Amino acid sequence: MLCPRCDGQGTVHEVRIRLNGEIARLCDECEALWREGTEVSASSVVDFSTYVRPLGLRGLFEEVEILPGPIQC
Ligand SMILES: [Zn+2]
Repeated sequence: MLCPRCDGQGTVHEVRIRLNGEIARLCDECEALWREGTEVSASSVVDFSTYVRPLGLRGLFEEVEILPGPIQC
C-alpha cells in the first residue's frame, strides 16, 4: 500500500525487526513506522529511528527483514 505520510512517494511494507522478531509496517521512503495492530494512518505514525533507538538500533533498513506478500489492512 502507499504511504499516507509522504503522499504516496513511498510504499509501506510489512517488516520484521531482526533483533526481536517484532512485526511492524515501514515506509521505504520516509521511514514512517506503524506497530503491528496499529492502523496505518498519518496520525498514528512513529519514526523508525525513534522507535528502534531504545532497542539499540539505528533505524537502518538492514536492521529489518521485509516480508513478502500484501499488507492486510
Ligand atoms: Zn512514507
